[in-house]
Amino acid sequence: MAREWSGIQQFPLATQTKLLELLGTLKEKVKNSVTILVMGKGGVGKSSTVNSILGERAVAVSAFQSDIPRPVMVSCERSGVTLNIIDTPGIIEGGFINDQALELIKRFLLNKTIDVLLYVDRLDSYRVDNLDQQVIKAITRSFGKEIWRKGIVVLTHAQLTPPDFLSYDEFFARRSEALINVVDSEARLNRCEIPGHALPAVLVENSSRCTINDGREKILPNGIAWIPNIVETITKVATNESQNIMVDQNLIDGPNANERGKWLIPLILGVQFLFVTQVKKWIKDDIAKAPKSSWE
Ligand code: GDP
Ligand code: MG
Repeated sequence: MAREWSGIQQFPLATQTKLLELLGTLKEKVKNSVTILVMGKGGVGKSSTVNSILGERAVAVSAFQSDIPRPVMVSCERSGVTLNIIDTPGIIEGGFINDQALELIKRFLLNKTIDVLLYVDRLDSYRVDNLDQQVIKAITRSFGKEIWRKGIVVLTHAQLTPPDFLSYDEFFARRSEALINVVDSEARLNRCEIPGHALPAVLVENSSRCTINDGREKILPNGIAWIPNIVETITKVATNESQNIMVDQNLIDGPNANERGKWLIPLILGVQFLFVTQVKKWIKDDIAKAPKSSWE
């Protein structure tokens, strides 16, 4: 059951006004409930981002043992709209995909509908490596490539000074582009095929030391008030024309789970037939060879 979203009152007036306006937009577009799935590596700021968006400590955050062991859904209701945010544990362990964690997430999501996927990473990581590729691949494998049409790349730790030769916006563009390229190649979603649907990227600064403007709104080095900005992007993606993702058993089993190994069926039947025929022959021979009893 959703509880009243009280955290919204913690925000400065300008943020509250904008958030209520966005909730209004969601309701108008017949979205009484929006389910947001948060995924990414461990320690990148997934849980902190959930708390920042809600304006309350809804899920546990820790600098060291930074991950919850299982998915958690927080449901808050305001102005007739319910926000369901699903925080998940990181799916990488010791350099590999933790299949158990992934299974747990899939099972948790069974029979739920995902309206938005927040793919979280840090802005201040300088390269996209094999781990990123593995996480993106695992998400694609688990929920189908279509999930990226509901995706947003979220980059935390956004209050940084970029290297000398780059402006903040250039740095952001390059970092997000690098991640988006991985998604594009993993999901093989043709960007041209869906005009205006390129995977959006947003910045987040969860630190309590985030700079604020005159209206006490948390802002980034480029001046953008990031909380209304991320909620606006969520609203856009939730209401874009792509279908939301229904997580059912078929999706979890993967494409063609029923087809797998079907070609073996005639082969197995054939072998069975030959085997039974041979055994029957042996029995017949045995009977023929057996000495007849006197009464026969
Ligand atoms: P998760 O494992 O992805 O859920 O990451 P957490 O939200 O638990 O965050 C891990 C650590 O990073 C915590 O110590 C957070 O306080 C810190 N952290 C998360 N996001 C940010 C951010 O945007 N800026 C800064 N400075 N620290 C962050
Ligand atoms: Mg966490």
